[in-house]
Amino acid sequence: MAKILVNSADSHVLERLDLWEQALPSRLAQRAPRVERKDGKETVYVDGQVLRRDPIAFQEAMRPPGAENVQIRLQDLDDQGIQSEAVFPSRGLWIAHMHDQELAAASAAAYNDWCASEINAVSPRLIGSAVLSVVDTDDAVRELHRAMGMGFRAIFMPCEPPKGRPYNSEVWEPLWSAMSEAGAVPCFHIGTGGELILARGPGGAVINYVETAFPGQRVVAHLVASGVLDRHPSLKIAIAEGGVAWVPALGDRMDEAYRQHGMFVRPTLSALPSEIIYRQVYTSFQHDRSALPTVTALGYDKVMWGSDYPHLEGTFPNTQKVLHELFDNADPVVTERVTIGAFNELFGLGA
Ligand code: MN
Repeated sequence: MAKILVNSADSHVLERLDLWEQALPSRLAQRAPRVERKDGKETVYVDGQVLRRDPIAFQEAMRPPGAENVQIRLQDLDDQGIQSEAVFPSRGLWIAHMHDQELAAASAAAYNDWCASEINAVSPRLIGSAVLSVVDTDDAVRELHRAMGMGFRAIFMPCEPPKGRPYNSEVWEPLWSAMSEAGAVPCFHIGTGGELILARGPGGAVINYVETAFPGQRVVAHLVASGVLDRHPSLKIAIAEGGVAWVPALGDRMDEAYRQHGMFVRPTLSALPSEIIYRQVYTSFQHDRSALPTVTALGYDKVMWGSDYPHLEGTFPNTQKVLHELFDNADPVVTERVTIGAFNELFGLGA
C-alpha cells in the first residue's frame, strides 16, 4: 500500500535528564526539574515539589530511542511517513508548574537554548516550540523576543495557567500583543499546567484522559470571549492533541450566550464567537473518527492530524495503518488540508 505522507502537529522530544541541572546557576539548579528512580517508581521534583510519581515501566513504554536521539527520530519520521512535525517538550512541560519567578525564567531560557541547537538546528523538518515563564508576563515577553530571534515560531503554552492569572485576564495582554506582532504561534498542549489525576476508582483511566481535554476548550472560551483573538486578528492559536469535533459545538454554545445574554456581554466582539474560532483556532487529533466529518459537514477546516510521537495515546509505530483508516475513503482535498495544508498555514510553511 502506498505511504500517505503527512505533517504532524503534535510530537514530543525527551530532553536530557540533566539539562537544567547543567545549565542553571547552582542556586537554582537544586530546584530545577529533577527525576529520581527508586522501587519501580519514577518521581519528578520541580521547584521543591513532587510533581508526579509514575511506574518506571509506564514511562519507559513511551520512550522509543528516537524520543531522545534526534537522528533516530528522523529515521522514525521517514518510516512513519511524516515530513514535518511540531515538537513539544516533555520535561520542559513542568516549567509551567514553577512558582519562583527567577527559576521559571531561567528554566525556560535553558530549554530554549537546548531546543534551538539540538532540535531546530538539526533539521528544518522539526518545528521545536519555545517555552516561556507563565509566572511573569514581562519575563515571558522578553523570552518570546529572544526565542523569535533564535528562529522559533511555535510557542508552547500550558492549557491551565497559574492560579490568579486566567487567560481572560489583562495581565497577559502584553504577551498576546508581542506574539501577534512577532508572528508567533501559541500552541496550547492539552494535559499541561494542571492536575493530571482528578478521578480515582472505576473508570479512572478513561475519565482522567477525558479531563485532560477540557482545559484546552477553556483556553478557547477565554481567549475568544475576552476579545483577545478579536483584538489580534492575525494571532492564530493551536490546541494540540485535544481532538476536533468539540470546536463547532463550543462555537454554538458561545454564540448562544453572546446573543441571548447580550445585556451581560463584555466586551462586544466584531464578529460572532464561532466566526472568530473558525478563523483563528487550529486543533489536532490522532485517531478521531469524528475529525473529518467536522471538516466536511460543519466547514471547520483548521484541523491538523498529529502523531503524538512517542506517546502511548499516539500512533507510533502504526502511523500508516491509522492514516489509511482515516483517509483512504476521504475527499483528497480534505485529506490534503488535514494532513498538510492547515499545518503549513499555521506555521507559515510551504508555497
Ligand atoms: Mn502531545
